[in-house]
Amino acid sequence: MGIATPAHIQAFKDKDVFPVLAQQSVREMARTERNWQKVLDDAIWGCFEAGYEGPFGADADHVKEIKDLKDAVDCGYTMFTLDPSDFIRNDIKKLGKQELDQLYNQIPNSKEIKKFYLGKSYKVNGQELIFNEKSLKEITLTYSEALNHVVECYEFLKSHKKSDFDLEISVDETPTVTSPLAHLFIVLELQRRGVDFQNLALHFLGDWQKGIEYIGDVEQFAREFSLHAAIAKNIGGYKLSLHTGSDKFSVYPIFFQETDGLYHIKTAGTSWLEEVKVVAMKEPELYREIHRFALENFEKDRVSYNLTTDLSRIPDIDTIPDNELINLFKRNDSRQLIHITYGSILRARDNEGKYIFKDRIYIVLFQYEEDHYRGLSNHIRRHLELLNLRRRK
Ligand SMILES: [Zn+2]
Repeated sequence: MGIATPAHIQAFKDKDVFPVLAQQSVREMARTERNWQKVLDDAIWGCFEAGYEGPFGADADHVKEIKDLKDAVDCGYTMFTLDPSDFIRNDIKKLGKQELDQLYNQIPNSKEIKKFYLGKSYKVNGQELIFNEKSLKEITLTYSEALNHVVECYEFLKSHKKSDFDLEISVDETPTVTSPLAHLFIVLELQRRGVDFQNLALHFLGDWQKGIEYIGDVEQFAREFSLHAAIAKNIGGYKLSLHTGSDKFSVYPIFFQETDGLYHIKTAGTSWLEEVKVVAMKEPELYREIHRFALENFEKDRVSYNLTTDLSRIPDIDTIPDNELINLFKRNDSRQLIHITYGSILRARDNEGKYIFKDRIYIVLFQYEEDHYRGLSNHIRRHLELLNLRRRK
């Protein structure tokens, strides 16, 4: 909605954290009909409103194409998150040996890669990570095109953006879970090819879904994550970044501990959910309309997400009294129903081209601004508490 910044600032108050107040992905902007400039302007207005004079970052998130990078640079963004997922191959593990060899030999720098990595072992947390013939070929084939794309984008940024910038590489939005060995390969290759990056978002073990708790074995995650954190510490120069980080309360303490507090966390949709929650509390009829509309659009909208949502588990909205609508925000299925249909909800127009919901949502949030800010900042604060941040002196 572009009006959450004062609440974010309220949540960050006294906390020793560097806030990235402007953050939107290319996909989100298409769905909310926003653009880089608008996202940045909204965050800056939020700073004015809150009287915030501290520093903040602006992250052009999940950029896949150079033309989008260019626009973000021109608007004054300071952080760029490159998403090369269109170039990541997720079918490599299914290939037979012959096919694997054949494909590998087609890579222009295959010999060079072999020379650098084959047989090399790295000791991490008392565990040995080794590039053998098979793992090296698989990892190289999975990521080599993606790495080429990253290098190309980085070269563009360096030539086009004159001042310093922060760079994040994200391989989280791909079906392939990033193994510690793959993590090692990605980082070593980026460094070898001269890409100076500060954040790395991996696809960590487990199921990371929008707006709900981590799904998976937390202990197993902790074991694997400690390897990732150790790799990052050993090599140095970058932070691990957690995407789809909202509401993953069970893994936050692990994230904090293993990284010694040096990390980047992204949340976005959870702020939207808090806003719709205000609508449910203050304008139940409007919420009911949104809910029904979301049900109609869910199947179409879920395609771009990894979700286990089961709509049949959501109680019939007509049987829920007004004062219990808020309970829908405690359930995973109804949270995700509203979370992922945001674009359809915000863009919906009537025959005359007027927004069906968007303007009415704004009216509710402006009218109940205090409730909006309080609910949202408390929710973000719940995240921050688990990250054990020091109080700012
Ligand atoms: Zn992501």
